[in-house]
Amino acid sequence: MTIDNYKFAGKKAIVRVDFNVPLDENGNITDDTRIRGALPTLKKVLAEGGALIIMSHMGKPKGKVNPKFSLSQIVKAVSEKLGVEVQFAPDCAKAAEAAAALKAGEVLLLENLRYYPEEEGKPVGIDKEDPAYDEAKKAMKTSQKEFAKTLASYADCYINDAFGTAHRKHASTAVIADYFEADNKMLGYLMEKEVNAVDNVLSNIKRPFTAIMGGSKVSTKIGIIENLMDKVDNLILCGGMTYTFAKAQGGTIGNSICEDDKLELALNIIAKAKEKGVNLVLGVDCVAADAFANDANTQVVPANAIPEGWEGLDAGPKTQVLFADAIKNAKTILWNGPAGVFEFDNFTAGSRAIADAIAEATKNGAFSLIVGGDSVACINNFGMADQVSYISTGGGALLEAIEGKVLPGIAAIKG
Ligand code: AMP
Repeated sequence: MTIDNYKFAGKKAIVRVDFNVPLDENGNITDDTRIRGALPTLKKVLAEGGALIIMSHMGKPKGKVNPKFSLSQIVKAVSEKLGVEVQFAPDCAKAAEAAAALKAGEVLLLENLRYYPEEEGKPVGIDKEDPAYDEAKKAMKTSQKEFAKTLASYADCYINDAFGTAHRKHASTAVIADYFEADNKMLGYLMEKEVNAVDNVLSNIKRPFTAIMGGSKVSTKIGIIENLMDKVDNLILCGGMTYTFAKAQGGTIGNSICEDDKLELALNIIAKAKEKGVNLVLGVDCVAADAFANDANTQVVPANAIPEGWEGLDAGPKTQVLFADAIKNAKTILWNGPAGVFEFDNFTAGSRAIADAIAEATKNGAFSLIVGGDSVACINNFGMADQVSYISTGGGALLEAIEGKVLPGIAAIKG
């Protein structure tokens, strides 16, 4: 079923959203992006005369009640955004009565799902090495099903609009779907958008396809890099990874960040790119600093000849041109990870050059997808959010999808 085809009038919809918003020490929301992201789905149900039961997790209460992570803190904000006085169920597993009493147009927000260990389905208080662990895990899976069934009993239909947790097989993100017929479960608008974005860079590829992977380490990105190798025409590897590659090829890198146990892996990546005909673009020069600080002294040097006592913190001018050349003519672009220590104002030029080239390509008809907290922060800091095709809120889930993994939250609905 799709959200556009379902008739919500007179129906109760239980919607899994990601309202895990950051709060300050007084419980005030400091960034409401995630709440705003779910509004189109929630408003659609209400506008059609349905009632809403909203569920989410917040923080990591690890299966225990903890007022610090109570969703009661966001009732007022959600009420204001929906234009409806939101009711609150202080125990998500004992909300049957409140749910049954809901009338068309009314909204019930359930307390934090992760107050129950059943939500995540991991046994608590028992070590993985313990011989009794497997038994405990089996028991937990059974109670997770019960928990999911209880949540499902509140509503006529289920909507999953929490892309950020779609890579987790939790009670509210996947298991609950087993208790609804195919006609009564669907993805929300936010989920649909993320799924389409992934589809654009994985199946519906227009060429040339350029992927830009940055950030600090090769090790955390290797799964994606390997998966992309089969799909892309140009692969830019930048950020801290540059120096692992430079050292692997015999360069000197001073104090630059480097994963010494990944030198062979770096050489393998270079070889694989050659074998597959992928244009691998690595930094040739860098902005080196004499300290890891915004006000450090700097000089531009070759990325493979960094003097002792200096470290590469951003892509140099020649590298920026190489990056831009590989991006400007692309028709599909994926960007994950900055080209330098973008948190320091003086080391943002590499990331800026990437963002500018992406904006130009997008203007010329490319589909550009920006993924991961740091690249999203770059685009937002540069004020360029409206010059790219799609900014993913999905983070880990989207990266897992790009790695080629099946996301349980999507599989539970789409089969
Ligand atoms: P990741 O979490 O692996 O995506 O990496 C993001 C982080 O990489 C950001 O905090 C950047 O500051 C950092 N980073 C990017 N380039 C460099 C570099 N040349 N040296 C050290 N850190 C870097």
